[in-house]
Order: sequence, then C-alpha cells, then structure tokens
Amino acid sequence: MATTDDDTPVTPATAVVHLGREPHAHHGFVNVPVYRGSTVLYPTLASLDAMTQAYTYGRRGTPTVRALEDALTRLAGGADTKLAASGYQAVTTALLAFVEAGDHILMVDTTYQPTRQFCDYMLRRLGVETEYYDPLIGSGIARLIRPNTRLVYVESPGSQTFEMQDVPAIAAAARAASDKIWVLADNTWASPLYCQPLALGADVSIEAGTKYLVGHADALLGSVTSNKRAARHIERSAGHLGVCPGSEETFLGLRGLRTLDVRLARHQETGLSLARWLQGRTEITRVMHPALPDDPGHALWKRDCKGSTGLFAVLLRPVSRRALAAFLDGLKLFGMGYSWGGYESLVIPFDCSSYRTAAPWTGEGQTLRFHAGLENADDLIADLAAGFDRMAAASI
Ligand SMILES: *Cc1c(COP(=O)(O)O)cnc(C)c1O
Repeated sequence: MATTDDDTPVTPATAVVHLGREPHAHHGFVNVPVYRGSTVLYPTLASLDAMTQAYTYGRRGTPTVRALEDALTRLAGGADTKLAASGYQAVTTALLAFVEAGDHILMVDTTYQPTRQFCDYMLRRLGVETEYYDPLIGSGIARLIRPNTRLVYVESPGSQTFEMQDVPAIAAAARAASDKIWVLADNTWASPLYCQPLALGADVSIEAGTKYLVGHADALLGSVTSNKRAARHIERSAGHLGVCPGSEETFLGLRGLRTLDVRLARHQETGLSLARWLQGRTEITRVMHPALPDDPGHALWKRDCKGSTGLFAVLLRPVSRRALAAFLDGLKLFGMGYSWGGYESLVIPFDCSSYRTAAPWTGEGQTLRFHAGLENADDLIADLAAGFDRMAAASI
C-alpha cells in the first residue's frame, strides 16, 4: 500500500496521481509550478538569524524540487529523498556519503558500468578499496566482510545481464556483521512501483529518474531515497557536493510521475511479449529476463518485485559482424542508443566480458539489450522478424 500526502492508504496507481501536489497553494492550478531561482529573500533580520525559513537558497531546494522529493519518499517507503541532476550523480552522491580513506566496499559485479568506473578511478584515488562480488552470492557475502567494510552495493536485476540478487539475505548478513555497514541499492530497473529495496533491508535506494520516471528521453534526473538512519548522511553528501537538479527537469519528473503506473504496465506487457517471442527463435540461445518462469532469477524476482519492466537482454547464436549489422541497421522501430525508459523501443549490442571480474561472462555470441517501448507489440515483433530475415540473408 502507498499513501497520499495526508496519509490516506491507496494503491500506487492512485498515489502517483496525487502525491506531491497542492493545487490550492498555487491558486488552484493542478500542477506544481516550476520555481526557478537562486536568491531567496528573507523578510527581516530576525528571520535571517532564525534560520528556520523553509527555502534558503536555490541550490538547497525549491517547492518544485521538494514536491517530487516528498512524493518519491512516500513511494519508496523512505524517510527522505534528495534529487540529483542525473542517475549517475545520485549514485556518486550516495557512495560518497558513507566512505572515507581506508574503507573497503563490496560492489556487485553486475553493476551499471559507470558506477564501476567511479569506484575504479575516483574512489580508488580517494583511498577506498572496491571488491567486486558475484551477484548470486546471497548470504555468502558475510565471508567478504572485513572490519573496514563500509558498504555493500546491490543492483537487482543487474545491468546488462539481469541476474537477480537475494537482497534480503545480503542486507541481513551486512546488518549482522556490523551496524556500521550501509546497504545501497540501485533500483532503476524496477522503479519504486515494482520494487522497494528499503523494505528488503537496504538503507538507500537509488533511481535514475532519467529512465521511467521522466519516461520521454527528454531530461536527466536522479534520486536517492534513504531510511531514517541513512538520511542525514545523504543530505550532508548532497549538500557538500552541491548536488541539485534543474528546475525544468524536476518538473518533467513530476509530470512523468503522473503516468508512471500506466506506462510501466505497458512496458511490462510488451517486454514480456518480445521476450517470449525471442525465446522461440532459433537465432537466440538465451533470453535474460527475470519475469520469465525459466529464468534462473525468477523465484527471487517473484518474491521481491511486483512487476517487470521493458528492459531485458538476449544472447545471439554466433553470427558475423556483417550479419549483425544487417539485423540492427535495418530495424525501423527500434532505435540504437544508450539509456532507456522512454516511449521508444531500443536495442543496443554490449560486451561485458571485458570488465566483469567476480562473475566473468562466458556466453558465446553477441549479447543485445532490448528496451520495449510503448509501441504495439505485434509491430515490434514484425520489425524484429524482418531483421532476422536480413541477418539470415547476410549470413549466406
Ligand atoms: C541509466 C542508469 C543510471 C544512470 O542514470 P543517468 O541519469 O543516465 O546518469 C544508473 N543506474 C542504472 C542502473 C542505470 O540504468
């Protein structure tokens, strides 16, 4: 159950429509207006001295920013949310909230690749050691915890290859080892509507709002929602780093929120239609989608998630680069590009064999990541079928 701003219990579909709005504070206008601004005025010296004004300076928040932060806090079941200018900035703000020189962190091997680069380059320079672990480790994470381990980072399902993690077991092991260990989750795939990492034992849930929240590929946005014990660390980190989202982007996040539930339902349905159809194709050796009953992560997905979204991957039978190009280049409905979560279907080839270390990728053949957009599923399938015909012709 979610709640509205006045604590009325409602389903999430209703919550996303009503959260973070206050029409009568804005002359009855239905949507929160875009507040732009750096300077905020104080009416008297006494009010300046008191430091109790709700808004103090543009970088520290506006009513537009606060509206979306509060809505996301409620949706994720947290204590507080800080918005960031991108999902990646939300990741780095969350990591930097908890570590200092000499610390050790446990990072899932299937994490979003830029997160990995931040650990390998920036955290390393700051004297923080990152150890990568197998996404399937579960409670075995306990064996990797050292006296200086400061945080455990999960992403379930993992980027690119969609392994589900036993987040409750990992969080319980971390908590049992020390209350000085923080559990951070990147929840971008599921969004707060389909997974609630804080309820599974994480302290912090990170979202790239760029993806499904914004939903139209027209803005970058990130958020960090934390539980009570983590909230002040995140607030300090965001404050010290000067993290603030753009006003227009925040408005687009609020606008996206209103339709998030219906869009996700469609992404889910179309994603499953494509995944099932691809499973039946001889060109494909494996479909990586945790909502498919024969996926290795299916039981965990069923236990921990309320739904699946439009992003999944496949492993192709080995084909020449020329045949792959014939498939990809002629697609009419699938765009090729980074990011996902918008209305348009996408496909992108990837190769994670070059950088995974704890759970090396051994699949033979090209891996492709698909994003099911909001188009009609039969149209998308026809486009892919024509692509496979071109691939076959180019393979002769
Ligand atoms: C896209 C993505 C991010 C980063 O979001 P940006 O807004 O592009 O910076 C972080 N984590 C995951 C899992 C993502 O897919």
